[in-house]
Parts: sequence; structure tokens; C-alpha cells
Amino acid sequence: MPEIIVKPSDLKELWEMLPGLPAARRYLAGGTDIVTADNAGAESSECWIDISGLPELAAIKETAGALFIGSGVKISEIENSKAARKWCPALAAAIPHFASPSLRNMATLGGNAANGSPCADGVCALVAEGAYVLLALKGKKRRLPLRELFLGPKRTALKKDELILAFEIPKRPHAGVYLKLGPRAYFGISKAAVALTAELSGGTIKRAVVALGSVAPVPLLAVKTSAWLAGRQLSPQTAAAAAAMVKAEVSPITDTRSEAQYRREMCGVLLERALGGLR
Ligand SMILES: Cc1cc2nc3c(=O)[nH]c(=O)nc-3n(C[C@H](O)[C@H](O)[C@H](O)COP(=O)(O)OP(=O)(O)OC[C@H]3O[C@@H](n4cnc5c(N)ncnc54)[C@H](O)[C@@H]3O)c2cc1C
Repeated sequence: MPEIIVKPSDLKELWEMLPGLPAARRYLAGGTDIVTADNAGAESSECWIDISGLPELAAIKETAGALFIGSGVKISEIENSKAARKWCPALAAAIPHFASPSLRNMATLGGNAANGSPCADGVCALVAEGAYVLLALKGKKRRLPLRELFLGPKRTALKKDELILAFEIPKRPHAGVYLKLGPRAYFGISKAAVALTAELSGGTIKRAVVALGSVAPVPLLAVKTSAWLAGRQLSPQTAAAAAAMVKAEVSPITDTRSEAQYRREMCGVLLERALGGLR
């Protein structure tokens, strides 16, 4: 635990206090990743900036064209949001797979993204939702497609002190599925996960986005498979062909949780099931 923990009450106070803080500093949101890293001796900051009280990060808001989920919104709040369930069905489907109810009361969506893990369930689902991430560093703001935030395992495009403000999800009626293969049904890091969103017209897939977790250095957008699915009939044949295609798009590794070849095979199985589960 660092010696200094500060807690600004709003964004203005945060930007004002930054120059006076030790250079080795990090943000603290729900603490479920950073405190775990600290306990494991893998965190050496001199200062944590507790952003859990920043009102600017705390809300879920709607405009005519988009849903905005503040980076400080807890996973459990998303679970309870009617708007999030309506406009982000893949994200809503991912939440029951996210750790445990008590952890979901602490963990934030912003922390899930900033941590940069290829296994992050919220992030994988949001990539399939076509989300953008809104960032701020003092007066400077920028907006990126969420998938561009990730550069490699635990590496993001965030600049020093840059803060994730919110996630912007375009409002489009669509269906969404999230399937996660872990060591047990719930409460485990995934071996592989598939998020699928799709716009359907009768039995035809007008548009589909496939994202995968834990099978590449970053949460992966399966560009080729997603493009191939557009305009196809939703059928067992389509699902089988998409499953074969997605296996060529992933680049899993063997680690303590699983083997590369098994993960690759399971990406196909999960996508086939996800397509079968579309309604
Ligand atoms: C037992 C356990 C089970 C877990 N299970 C899952 C699971 O099933 N699925 C899953 O996806 N994750 C899981 N996690 C990981 C973790 O809970 C999530 O990644 C969580 O969303 C992190 O959010 P947080 O608010 O706790 O982040 P914190 O720990 O507070 O922060 C994580 C990192 O993000 C940075 N950060 C936080 N917020 C911002 C921001 N707004 N802008 C810029 N940087 C920021 C911090 O500086 C830090 O580097 C689990 C963790 C534990 C301990």
C-alpha cells in the first residue's frame, strides 16, 4: 500500500492536485485489480489517487443516439440498469460471468479496461457492442474505438495520468450473447470467451460483431468473421462455417489456465453456440 492516498472530490480538483503528487502514481477505482497486485508485490506506486468519489465518472446517461456508461460505474450497477440491458445485450449477458456479486459491487468498468487484460469480460463485451472510450487529461479530451485502447497484455494507449471518463455505445437495436469458458461455471478467469452482437432481419444477419477474450494479446475483434457473417442466413451451416473461420483469427497461448490448441478449438465451439443462441 503506498504511503500517500489522495481523494479529489471532482475532476477540477484532480487536475489541480496532479503536479504536487509523487511521479509514481496511479488511479484507484474499485481496487479489485490494483489492491490484488499490491498484495502480490507487483505494485510499487508511491501514491494512489482514489477516483471513486468523482461525480463525473459515476453515471449512466442516454442521448438520442448513444448510451454513456461512466468509467466509475460498478459492474453491479450495469446489471441493474434497464438502459444498459436494452442497448448493450452482450455486456448484460457477460455480467453474471463476472466474478461474484460482492466483487461486482466494487469493480468498475473503467478499471476493467485500464487494467489492459485480454481476459476482461466487460471489455470483450463492449468491443462487440462497438463501444468508444472517452479519455481526458486535464483540458484535453479524446475518443477512440475501444479496441484501439489495447496494445498488448497489460499495455494500453493511456498516457500518464490520462483518465477514462466513459464508454459510448451507439444505440442500435440488436441481439447480444456472451459465452465464457472457465475452470468452472462461474467465478473464474476465462480460458476463452466469445461476445457476439447481431442485427437480424427475419432469418438474415444484417450485421454481426464477434469479439473474443483470453485468446490473443488483447481483447480481440474478429474482423474477418464479423464481415463474413453480414448478409448470411442464420443457420447451422453458417454457424459451422463461422466457427471454422474464427479459429484462424485467434492467437491463443498455452499458460496455467489452458492450452493454446484447446483454446482455439473452443473459440469455434463458443461462436457456434452463440450464433445458435441468437434470437
Ligand atoms: C477475485 C477476483 C475475481 C475477478 N474476476 C473477474 C472476472 O470474472 N472478469 C473480469 O473481467 N475481471 C475479473 N477480475 C478483475 C477485476 O475485478 C476487474 O478488472 C475490475 O473491473 C477492475 O476494476 P476496479 O475498479 O477494481 O479497478 P482498480 O483495481 O481500481 O484499477 C485497475 C487499474 O485501472 C486503473 N484505472 C482504474 N480506473 C481508471 C480510470 N477511470 N481511468 C484510468 N485508469 C483507471 C488503475 O490505476 C489500475 O491500474 C477479478 C478480480 C478479482 C480480485
